[in-house]
Amino acid sequence: MNLTSPTQVREWCQQRGFHPNRTLGQNFLIDRNILESIVDAAGVGAEQRVLEIGPGLGVVTVELLRRGAQVVAIEKDHRLAAWLTETFEHEPRLQLHTADALEVDWDTLLATRFDALVSNLPYSVGTRILLDVATHVAAPPVMTVTVQLEVAERFAAGPGAEARGQAGVWLQRTYDVSIVRVIKPTCFWPKPEISSALVRFTRHDRHALSVTETRRYLELTRFAFMHRRKQLAAALRNASGELCLETAVAQELLAACGVDPRIRAEELDVAQWCTLVRAWPA
Ligand code: SAM
Repeated sequence: MNLTSPTQVREWCQQRGFHPNRTLGQNFLIDRNILESIVDAAGVGAEQRVLEIGPGLGVVTVELLRRGAQVVAIEKDHRLAAWLTETFEHEPRLQLHTADALEVDWDTLLATRFDALVSNLPYSVGTRILLDVATHVAAPPVMTVTVQLEVAERFAAGPGAEARGQAGVWLQRTYDVSIVRVIKPTCFWPKPEISSALVRFTRHDRHALSVTETRRYLELTRFAFMHRRKQLAAALRNASGELCLETAVAQELLAACGVDPRIRAEELDVAQWCTLVRAWPA
């Protein structure tokens, strides 16, 4: 079957009485150019180990294998997983897990080390899965994913931007994030209502933190973006645990870190967040 042929993909579904599941974000990629862009952007080559979330009918998987990669794929839908198992029965370079990527033991899987993550992510849970992988200490050095355009804009948004949020601040601490291209809804079947984007993440180590500091970074920024309209120093007195600081103490801490004490969460850059967590009172 030609997996980038809309007619053939539709026929495959009709013949088996398979109705793409919206909740599982089953919008299959049917555009050859976009497929190549996704794999090109990850720079996938022979012998590389690639992690794919949601292989679906296998359109990305086939291309990864064609380029010589070894693929570990995680698919939640049992019917699609059964089809993949049958189709790739004689392909030792594909290891398929029929599992929910939200429940994967990432410590064990990522310890096997991947050169890249390449995925056309399911809309509803894509961000959560991506953050679970990206914030792991053994995260792949490169990730290329497709997500809704507005989600991609959040991932890439810099300080002060309307779209600046927790996901971007988490991802940008360890990755350079770039939107490679916008993808029209017609590149998928069934056609989603909104545009998507291909996003490339390249790992960097400009903002290294200890394990404790990393935990604090994640907790502090999560709390801060839940109260993004408030001045950070004022918001912190309502935080819990070690994040809770009296406003005067928080203002002093911010000033000592060279940050305006009246600042709001979306205005800080990643380096400033890191300076803050390193200086956090013990
Ligand atoms: N890779 C295929 C493609 O590009 O055509 C399918 C991509 S489709 C956008 C998302 C895929 O993720 C579907 O195959 C869906 O069944 C799967 N999926 C959805 N939620 C999942 C989860 N929690 N864990 C693993 N796979 C999931």
